[in-house]
Order: sequence, then structure tokens, then C-alpha cells
Amino acid sequence: MPRIAPQPGIMDIALYVGGQSRVEGVDDVVKLSSNENPFGPSPAAIEAIAASAAQAHRYPSTDHAELRAAIGAVHGLDPERIICGVGSDEIIHFLNQAYAGPGDEVLHTEHGFSMYKISAKAAGATPVEVPERERVTDVEALIAGVTERTRLVFIANPNNPTGTFIGEQDLRRLAEGLPEDVILVLDGAYAEFAEGYDGGAALVDEFPNVVMTRTFSKLYGLGGLRIGWAYAAREVIDVLNRIRGPFNLSNTQLAAAEAAVRDRAYIANCLRQNATQRARLAQGLADLGIPSDRSDANFILARFTDAAEAEACDLFLQSRGLIVRRVGSYNLPQCLRITVGDEAAVTRVLDAVADFRAERG
Ligand code: PMP
Repeated sequence: MPRIAPQPGIMDIALYVGGQSRVEGVDDVVKLSSNENPFGPSPAAIEAIAASAAQAHRYPSTDHAELRAAIGAVHGLDPERIICGVGSDEIIHFLNQAYAGPGDEVLHTEHGFSMYKISAKAAGATPVEVPERERVTDVEALIAGVTERTRLVFIANPNNPTGTFIGEQDLRRLAEGLPEDVILVLDGAYAEFAEGYDGGAALVDEFPNVVMTRTFSKLYGLGGLRIGWAYAAREVIDVLNRIRGPFNLSNTQLAAAEAAVRDRAYIANCLRQNATQRARLAQGLADLGIPSDRSDANFILARFTDAAEAEACDLFLQSRGLIVRRVGSYNLPQCLRITVGDEAAVTRVLDAVADFRAERG
């Protein structure tokens, strides 16, 4: 036992448990537990990854200028107001480290992404959970939850694990309703899947205290490489860059992300397939008596009668090689979060759930 104790609050952090990827004794496994792109990264990204190997002896760029320029060009954003990180997880850490500390409060929604809590506690701050309305972000509750200690408010839109989305009017109301010295983080990990949504970029331009975070892990199929980014006011980007490690992204990460973001045709096709299969999955489950909220993401949250039924269905799916996500740690024990797979995977899920239902009578 080392004689030094960690900082207060660290031992209160519950370890993050990632999506399972193996089932003992089952070979033909489809992983639908981490909201990954079933088609993988763009072939252009794979080529860029391979080509980057020859540069492995060179330190990477410290300022990520080329990747920021590519992201800026594609999204119509000022590259000077973009920062890149090791997944959006790292950006969430930067925000908490930079703006929250002991005695400060960090607001997150009832079923919000677990990293907000972990990261706030790691910074010594106190995460504060705000209730939702039927699994949808409640902007009035968030505004009412602010105290003079609040420094940051995190919402994911669409939200993980609920898949629910709030529109322009609610987002604007939230930005307007928060004090100017509170940072509102609009986590857009799934923003691309919500048709017509800009991830909150226009609000960032309007409100200096709004930050948008994005990722290459979901739609872009690069979760294994860990690349995320944020768009914010210049002053915020300047603050975050001061605590960013100079070589936080490798040559391979930078090259892959740049190629991926430029391949718009590939992305458009992934989005089309996601929309088609998401509708099929949700409707198919509803036909089997398993409802879900409207999802604007690449997963759906299937609601069972109770926790026991959700668990039994999860085990049944596993026996068929289908790995989905239990969300008991999000206080949704009666639900299973199912990533939208390709057509064959959705067929397998629907067939398996139909058999599960038939077996239980
Ligand atoms: N935000 C949300 C809402 C997420 O679901 C995730 C991934 N599960 C992340 C952020 C972090 O993603 P990454 O670090 O891979 O960019």
C-alpha cells in the first residue's frame, strides 16, 4: 500500500465499464454495445492509417493545423476556434480541469453520459444530477439547478443512452437561461445522426460560454483510434490548449481523422443506412411489444417490462452471439441499448427477440 492517498473524491469514482465484445463459447459475434459504425472507417482513412506508419519516428504536429483546417472546411467553422483531443473524453477532461475544482458544481442530466461525473470528480468538483422529463433533457430543470457554485453544464444531444434529442428552441432557451459565467457543453458525439442538426455550432457563435464537442468514434468509425474535437470561443480554446499535452494526438490519429472527415460520400452512405436500419429496428421491436423512445442517434433504447425481462433478453441475445448494452448503471435496468447494425445484424436481433418472446409465451 503506498502511503499517499489520492485526492479527495477520486475513490468515489465508479470505474467505467465499457461495452462487452466477447461471449464465451460463441464464435459468430456481432457487437452492438458501443455505438460503433458497423461499416468501419472510410477506405480513405484506412489508407491514411497505413501510410502514416512510415512516419512513426517523427513526432506529430503539436497544433493539429491540418486536421483543424479539414474539420473547419467541412463544417464551415473557424479552425482557430477548434481543439482536438484523444476522443471527446479528453476534451471533457480538459473542460473540467480548466473550469471546475473543489467546491464547484458540474451539472449533468439524469441519464447523461457517465464521463461527465467521472471527469468532474477527477477535477475535485461535485457532479450534480438534474432530472429529465421522460428520458428527455429538461432545460428548465437544468436552469433551475444552477447555483452560484455551478461552473459547467453538460448535455449530450442526442443523448446517450436514451437516444433522445432536443431541438433548436430548447437549446436556445438553455443557452439564454444560464448565467454568462457558466459554461454550457453541448456534447455532439451523435450530432450527425440527428438530421439537420449542426451540433450547436451556431449557438457557440452566438454565446461565448457555449462549447460544442464532437467525435470521430461514432459515425466516422474510428473509436479505436481515439479522436475528438471541440468548437468554442477563442478564449476558451486558448485556455484548453494550455492544459493539453503537446503531442496528444499521434500522426496516425491525425491522418486518419483528416481522411475520414473529407470522405463525405462514405459518410452520407453510412447515415442513410443508419436511418433505414434504425427505423426497421425500432418498428420491429415495437411490433414485438417492446417500445423505445424516438432515437436521433445510432442506437435505440429498448424498454422491457422490468429489469428481469431485460436481463433475460440480454442473456438470450448473447447466446445468439448478439452483444447489446445493459444500462443499469444509468438507472435504466429495464432497458437495453442496442446499436443500429447493418441490415443483417438488425435481422438477427429482430429474429432473436422474436424467439425470446415466443419462448417466454
Ligand atoms: N459523449 C457521449 C455522449 C458518448 O456517448 C461518448 C462515447 N460513448 C463520448 C462522449 C466519448 O466518445 P469518444 O471519447 O470516443 O470521443
